[in-house]
Amino acid sequence: MSERTTALVTGANKGIGYEITRGLGALGWSVGVGARDEKRRAAAVERLCADGVDAFGVPLDVTDDASVSAAARLIEERSGRLDVLVNNAAITGGMPQEPTRVDPATVLKVVETNVIGVIRVTNAMLPLLRRSAAPRIVNMSSSVGSLTRQSAPDADRTAGPVAVAYAPSKTFLNAVTLQYVRELSGTNILINAGCPGYVATDLNGFQGVRTPEQGAAIAIELATLPDDGPTGKFFNDAGVVPW
Ligand code: NAP
Repeated sequence: MSERTTALVTGANKGIGYEITRGLGALGWSVGVGARDEKRRAAAVERLCADGVDAFGVPLDVTDDASVSAAARLIEERSGRLDVLVNNAAITGGMPQEPTRVDPATVLKVVETNVIGVIRVTNAMLPLLRRSAAPRIVNMSSSVGSLTRQSAPDADRTAGPVAVAYAPSKTFLNAVTLQYVRELSGTNILINAGCPGYVATDLNGFQGVRTPEQGAAIAIELATLPDDGPTGKFFNDAGVVPW
């Protein structure tokens, strides 16, 4: 059993998830690299270990019940508990995504990964999180899921492209985050949503203007909140994001 603080990051083989893993590992934590592809997972673990991180591979497809259950068993056997869960894995479903032309199957697929996947992983990990003295859940969302931003007069400039699968999936995730906060309000679990900003990753064809390391910073901050830290909030580097 590991005495170190243990975290699991989903979708950790590349992009922001990889950098979250590296950042948490730099704190001396033991970090599970949740990733569905064996080769990409192994390569990420190897690179992290070469950087001195106590990283271990966690085979994980967030859309698959058996995979998620097996991931929980692996962490239980290795660490006996989980201190921090970062729900980072997501897909866009491909662009463009105009509502009048979208294939409904695309919307379903995006929601299955970005929302149902988070519920599936969170529920599988909750028994392990409940064993932690300071459990934290970080849901990687996006400001494009902010209804306040989507309904603002300058939405075309500030709320990303019209995208009927990806943006509402993050709105849904934000709403799901608040439902967990309400149910678990009597516990010591702090649950928040984070937005990394517009980051150059595969997700957007590397069009983003921030580095994955910069994008990871908000997740690391929310993963390391003190016991009297906030819960049920949506943050980016600059502060609170309106829901
Ligand atoms: P990315 O580079 O495309 O990485 C996404 C990760 O999710 C990959 O590791 C991918 O694994 C994994 N993933 C996708 N479907 C999965 C599944 N079913 N099971 C397990 N893993 C799965 O994207 P990113 O930009 O780093 O995004 C990370 C998070 O930040 C996402 O939640 C995203 O919505 C959010 N975000 C990003 C931006 C941005 O500008 N990049 C802005 C706002 C919010 P594979 O390699 O196997 O595909």
